[in-house]
Amino acid sequence: MREDRSDSSCPLCEKKNVKRKFKMPQYSIFYCLTCKVEFNANFPPKNSAKESFSEEYYLELQKEAFSDQMENHMLDPSIEFYQKRLRQVEGLAEGRRLLDVGAGFGTFLRTAYDAGWDVEGVEISPFGSEFIRNKYGFNIYTESLTSLKLEDNSYDVISFWDSIEHMDLPGRQLIKAYQLLKKDGILILTSDNYKSLMSFLGRLSYSLSFGKLTYPVERFFIPYNKTYFNHDNMRDLLQKIGYEIILFEKMQYPVSKLKLGHFEKPVLKILYGIESFLNIQSQFTYIARKKIES
Ligand SMILES: [Zn+2]
Repeated sequence: MREDRSDSSCPLCEKKNVKRKFKMPQYSIFYCLTCKVEFNANFPPKNSAKESFSEEYYLELQKEAFSDQMENHMLDPSIEFYQKRLRQVEGLAEGRRLLDVGAGFGTFLRTAYDAGWDVEGVEISPFGSEFIRNKYGFNIYTESLTSLKLEDNSYDVISFWDSIEHMDLPGRQLIKAYQLLKKDGILILTSDNYKSLMSFLGRLSYSLSFGKLTYPVERFFIPYNKTYFNHDNMRDLLQKIGYEIILFEKMQYPVSKLKLGHFEKPVLKILYGIESFLNIQSQFTYIARKKIES
């Protein structure tokens, strides 16, 4: 018997004031009318191992994103973003204590360590956690951030690099990060932007084909994401929790980190060019401060 993993309650407000938006062969995407956010009602995807972020996820399914950085972290094309963000927060944070949530293979942690930060990570994948411990010797917690017993008001910077969209209850994660940050502590958050040209093309092809052409939706609204944020509903969520937005930028995920067919790569490069021209890029970054009302 096939296990039914469907859960149509909103990952932010946890209520069922939702409607179905896209029905794909393997999963359905719903929209919360209260939070104005889209989410995957069949997360984690069927066929994936008990843990979504298993060895198979890193070494096969997402090989393009991870294989180079496993060899040498400097080969990761995201390094320049990491270094740029660290420079941006250097003057904002008082101390140097940094926690990266969804640390993957530790490339950001290593980059921060090299820049003089005192680093720790959270990574639910036992495979990823072990890799970081063995390769770099950093302290890694192999459980969800929300279940960790860490001291409140103790970190200067907490980062979420392309990880919040994979988490079951993202609002709770960002509230926990808020509690763990010191007063005026800094959050760095990057995620996919579903107010972009890519998502527009997916939506358009789905509606013009009356839901028959699902491929473009599946390519961008990937089954490994729980929540499909956009820069507006993420800003609202952060501000509701109490964060003060300091910086907002749109960007794009490096082409070389994506699994793409022979013809898809040049097409994606053209689409990225159009996205940049129109300022509707498919990723965003927020840097925000823990503000305490006096
Ligand atoms: Zn909701």
